[in-house]
Amino acid sequence: MLEDKNKENTSLEKLGEFGLIDHLTKDFKISQKSTLKGIGDDAAVLDFKNKKTVISTDLLIEGVHFDLAYMPLKHLGYKAIMVNLSDIYAMNAMATQITISIAVSNRFPLEALEELYAGVATACNAYNVDLVGGDTTSSKTGLMISVTAIGVANDKDIAYRSGAQPNNLLVVSGDVGAAYMGLQVLEREKEVFKVNPNNQPDLEPYSYIVERQLKPEARKDITELLKKLDVHPTAMIDISDGLSSEILHLSKSSGIGIDLYEDKIPLDPTVIAACEEFKVDSTLVALSGGEDYELLFTIDQKEFPKIKGNPNLTVVGHTTGEGEGAFLISRNNAKIPLTAQGWNSFTD
Ligand code: ADP
Ligand code: MG
Repeated sequence: MLEDKNKENTSLEKLGEFGLIDHLTKDFKISQKSTLKGIGDDAAVLDFKNKKTVISTDLLIEGVHFDLAYMPLKHLGYKAIMVNLSDIYAMNAMATQITISIAVSNRFPLEALEELYAGVATACNAYNVDLVGGDTTSSKTGLMISVTAIGVANDKDIAYRSGAQPNNLLVVSGDVGAAYMGLQVLEREKEVFKVNPNNQPDLEPYSYIVERQLKPEARKDITELLKKLDVHPTAMIDISDGLSSEILHLSKSSGIGIDLYEDKIPLDPTVIAACEEFKVDSTLVALSGGEDYELLFTIDQKEFPKIKGNPNLTVVGHTTGEGEGAFLISRNNAKIPLTAQGWNSFTD
């Protein structure tokens, strides 16, 4: 994509740092009332009145968190924002502003950064967040992107990882495992491409899982749905590293046990098909795949009627007692300790 000789390439040096910042950010509009001052001064100024502010930040490094061989820059810009907004929604808060800092080498033409910022702009518009600042610097190695997301919540609504109570229900939004299987497809195509660059892959059968990898959506809609249904999660986390790891976080922070039922884990049929094709266990993929950016939360059993039958929400288990561990209850009713990698039997 960077090698595309048909496109005009403008070198970053020509613009200079200030010209570049201005060029990239000039079309961003402010839409949040809480933004008193956005880009253009030494710092942004925000006002959340009597509400609480939530802040989360992430650093993405080329070659570690993304691969430009199959990640179009526009998607990368979009995903960098989603990853951060997801953390805000996982606090049961609404995202309102972001800042974005980039370190780029001069192998990147201006047009590449325009693509990146086009993705950022699409995300800001779709999720109604203001870009209020950032930093721009050069890099001698790869591309680095750091995003900070800011959000707002009523004190009583904030869902910490530590709030789960014994005998709560464990609920997950959407389905899991798709982003990981999408990555498997993309990596396979990359290898095929290395051998035969003229080979045009047919990704159509994999469109859902590839899209889940390249263009994930943060679940703002779920945080809004919970509010609408008057459901108050006792604890919540977003699924960035896989169900298993997130369950362990909830269990540890809350000091209680959690049982996850294998037969309840929501999997898209295309994920099951891809798992068969790649000969991987779909439960393992769900447990340790990651990058799903779904929300995982606990609720009081009394709230069950409010979520019952909702196609976006699946009860996958329940909390147990104080100090009890986190377990997978398998289809044949075995109780297997969860580990950050998935479950015990796969680590030895
Ligand atoms: P300073 O020297 O005080 O760090 P900068 O010249 O880096 O100021 O930034 C000027 C303004 O542009 C600030 O409002 C800053 O937040 C914003 N900004 C800088 N880089 C970026 C970027 N990559 N994306 C968005 N805003 C940026
Ligand atoms: Mg600066």
